Amino acid sequence: MDFVAGTFAEPQRPEGIIEDRSPADATVLLGRHGWSASQVDRAVEAARAAQPAWSARPLAERSALVRRIGEVLRAHEEELARAIALDVGKPLWESRAEVQACVAKAAITVEDGLRLVAAFPAPGQAGAECRFRALGVLAVLGPFNFPVHLPNGHVLPALACGNAVVLKPSEIAPHAAELYARCLAEAGVPAGVFNLVQGPGPVGAALAAHAGVDGVLFTGSWAVGLAIQRACLGQSKLLALEMGGKNAALVLSDADLDKAVYDALFSAFVSAGQRCTAASRLIVEGPPERADALAARIAAAARRLSIGHPLRDGVFMGPLASDPALAKFLARSSKAPETVLEPRPLSPGGLRGSYATPGVHRVRARTGSAYEREELFGPDLAVYHAASAEEAVDIANATDYGLAASVHTGSREAFERCLARLECGVVNWNAPTVGASGRLPFGGLKRSGNHRPAGLFSSLYCAAPVAILHGEPRLDRSRLAPGVGWVDE
Ligand code: NAD
Repeated sequence: MDFVAGTFAEPQRPEGIIEDRSPADATVLLGRHGWSASQVDRAVEAARAAQPAWSARPLAERSALVRRIGEVLRAHEEELARAIALDVGKPLWESRAEVQACVAKAAITVEDGLRLVAAFPAPGQAGAECRFRALGVLAVLGPFNFPVHLPNGHVLPALACGNAVVLKPSEIAPHAAELYARCLAEAGVPAGVFNLVQGPGPVGAALAAHAGVDGVLFTGSWAVGLAIQRACLGQSKLLALEMGGKNAALVLSDADLDKAVYDALFSAFVSAGQRCTAASRLIVEGPPERADALAARIAAAARRLSIGHPLRDGVFMGPLASDPALAKFLARSSKAPETVLEPRPLSPGGLRGSYATPGVHRVRARTGSAYEREELFGPDLAVYHAASAEEAVDIANATDYGLAASVHTGSREAFERCLARLECGVVNWNAPTVGASGRLPFGGLKRSGNHRPAGLFSSLYCAAPVAILHGEPRLDRSRLAPGVGWVDE
């Protein structure tokens, strides 16, 4: 269902229907959602109509709404977590963590994010100040892998800063998106200030390129981010793009191997490898045999991971998000040069879902193949060896992406040397690549993103600074520009 101008309804003349089947069990139909690109016009119109009054409300009132949204999301944690788990196959423990991150975002926005867009005087210059104003109507386009947390990460700061929002969630998670919208309605968001339009790519394309949209906050693949950039060429709207990754975990010669193996296992296979920050490459400093040994240990540990229905207790990995995602993953990983553990489709307990076992591959000679360069977005880890820490960084950087990396070493100096050269927006020390703090800026370089519009800095992308100079109310004749020849009349 869509949520436009304060009303939940199906589009009157749908162009298509999303048949929402769970990747955990294809026999379960979660719902049917009609969609129509014409809903975009209605939603943008409703947002434009509602935005001026919303931004005129005192900041305290807007902040109070954001806090209330956090409370309502907390009250619906279990319901939302189950919806996420069934829509995209993420195990319940992870889905709950996703909802908790949404709740935390409300406090982070009000307590920390808004400070970044608070008015300030120019340092050392009397009569000069900066204030921030809302951008207007913001389009939020979400991916499937965090179907609620990532859109919410933009929606809350956008609302707090006085914008109106039109959200186009992933077509893979329409059920979770509708529940999220119902939470915002329950929290009392005024009609038109937040709108939800369901649908596949063409609906997102219509929204992003809409002339009534002042900014696009997109999270998804590089290919779609590029399509949005092209479609918006010549428009002056803000484009904040959070895109993919080809992330590397570096294991230096002095690293604690148990810790490195556990972190690599977690980083590569949590969320069935479908995180933008997932480790898809493990780069081991030392002779090739050291990398062989680590690859074998990780493969042995991966064989023991519990894979099953996301609502079952004790499951580490659920299915991939859809059958097409599974097929793409298996096709791409089959191009790997040397197999340590082959990923295979799986039917745990006879379930007909999009399940796969994890893959581990070994890359001995770098050829710049598609397998080495492209994001697989599934549970696969490629293991490399490097003669030195410097070479490990070179391998990590040899990709078009620049999102996350981790460095395993007991030496702060060695970490600092890697940090100085790694071309990434997130660099973790002795921690998984997938760890990220909502209280820090989040985003990447190169094909991973064009700014840092997520995490703490999200508010910066929802408000425009206005530079203000306070002049004298009367003409000061002693300060006229040379050569003006002023005559009093
Ligand atoms: P996707 O790019 O296929 O889709 C993202 C959203 O864009 C969806 O809502 C989709 O319907 C919409 N869309 C599709 N075509 C469009 C078009 N032409 N114009 C406008 N919108 C369009 O991504 P996905 O498969 O849902 O998510 C996985 C991708 O997201 C991975 O590449 C992953 O790395 C990335 N991701 C990045 C981050 C980050 O913060 N950097 C976080 C999560 C996921």
